[in-house]
Amino acid sequence: MLVVMQAQATEEQVRAVCQKIESLGYRPHSMPGAQRTAIGITGNQGEVESGTLEEMPGVQEVIRVSKPYKLVSRDTKPDNTVIKFSDSHLKGSLVTIGGPDLAIIAGPCGIETRDQAFKTAERVASAGAQFFRGGAYKPRTSPYSFQGLGEEGLKIMAEIRDRFGLLIVTEAVDYESLDLVDQYADVIQIGARNMQNFSLLKRAGRARKPVLLKRGISATLEEFLMAAEYIMSEGNYNIVLCERGVRTFADHTRNTLDLSIVPAVQRLSHLPIVVDPSHGTGKRNKVTPLSRAAVAVGADGLIVEVHHDPDRALSDGMQSLYPDQFDALMVQVRQIAAVLGRNIPTRSRVQAEVTSSAD
Ligand code: PEP
Ligand code: MN
Repeated sequence: MLVVMQAQATEEQVRAVCQKIESLGYRPHSMPGAQRTAIGITGNQGEVESGTLEEMPGVQEVIRVSKPYKLVSRDTKPDNTVIKFSDSHLKGSLVTIGGPDLAIIAGPCGIETRDQAFKTAERVASAGAQFFRGGAYKPRTSPYSFQGLGEEGLKIMAEIRDRFGLLIVTEAVDYESLDLVDQYADVIQIGARNMQNFSLLKRAGRARKPVLLKRGISATLEEFLMAAEYIMSEGNYNIVLCERGVRTFADHTRNTLDLSIVPAVQRLSHLPIVVDPSHGTGKRNKVTPLSRAAVAVGADGLIVEVHHDPDRALSDGMQSLYPDQFDALMVQVRQIAAVLGRNIPTRSRVQAEVTSSAD
C-alpha cells in the first residue's frame, strides 16, 4: 500500500500518518518527492484497511501497489533518487549519484599494497574520477586466490580519501566486514554473488552509508529490484544499482554486459544505476567501448577497474585498464555525456587543494 500525500501537506500531517501506520503494526517509509510525499507501507501480510488513512488530513489517496516491489518503484517515488555526498574531506564540494553529473568510480580490483593503491588512486583522481574503488574483502572463486587485506585495506582506502579527496567504494561480504566497511568507506558494495544473501541485504539496510548493489550473476530484473527492496525495507533508501554482466552461453567475454537493463530499470525504479564494464566483459580491450555505450544508454555512472601495473595485479589484471587507457576513456565519455546533457565534473579546485595541502 502507498499513501500519497497532497502537494501542500505539512510535515506534521506526514508525521501523523506515519504514526497511524505504526499504530496499526506496520512500518511507514516516508519518501519526499519534488511534487509530493509518498509513504510506503511494509510489514503488512494482506491488504491494509485504507479507510482510516484516507480520511486523515493531508492525504490525497491510498493506493494498492500491484508490483512485488514497492519502495524501489517509481509508483512510490516518481522523481529520480539523487544520492548526495557532502563530506568534510571534500571541503564542502558536493558529489552526487543519480543527478545530471555522472559518477565515475575507478580503482583496482583489490587493495594489494599501500603503494599499489596510492599509485592507482593518484592516476584515477587526476583523470577525473570522484570515487575510488578497491576490494579489501575479495569473494574469489578459489579459496587459494588472494582474499584481500581486510581491515588493513580499509585503512589504506581511508588514507586515500584524505590524500586525494576521493570517496571510497568497497565491498562487504558478511556481517563482520559490513560493520567495518560502514565505518571506513563512503559506499558499501554488495557483490554479485551476494545479491540474494537476504540477511546481508537486511543488514545493509540498517547501515548508515549508501549501498552499491551489483546484479547477481544470473538475476532477472525483478530479482535485482527485489534485492534492492530488501535493503530499502530496512530503512536505507540510498541505493545505487550496478549492472555488471550476466552469465550467458557467449564465451568471447567473461560475462554478457546487459545494457538494456539500464532503461528497463529507469522505467520501473527511481534508483540510480551505474555500469561495470570491467566485470561485464572481463577483457581490457572491451572496457572502453562498453563504457562509451553505457554512458550513451543513459547510465548514471561507471565503475571501472584500473591498476597502475595490471600485469602484476593479484586479481582481475586482464580486465584492468592501464592508467593511460583510463585517461583516454574519460576524454571520450565526457563528450558522450555532453550529448545527453549530462556532465562529468572536472576535479574541483577545492579537491586539488586537498591534494596539494597534503603533500
Ligand atoms: C568487484 O567489483 O571486484 C567484484 C568482485 O564484482 P562482482 O561482485 O560484480 O563480481
Ligand atoms: Mn574485480
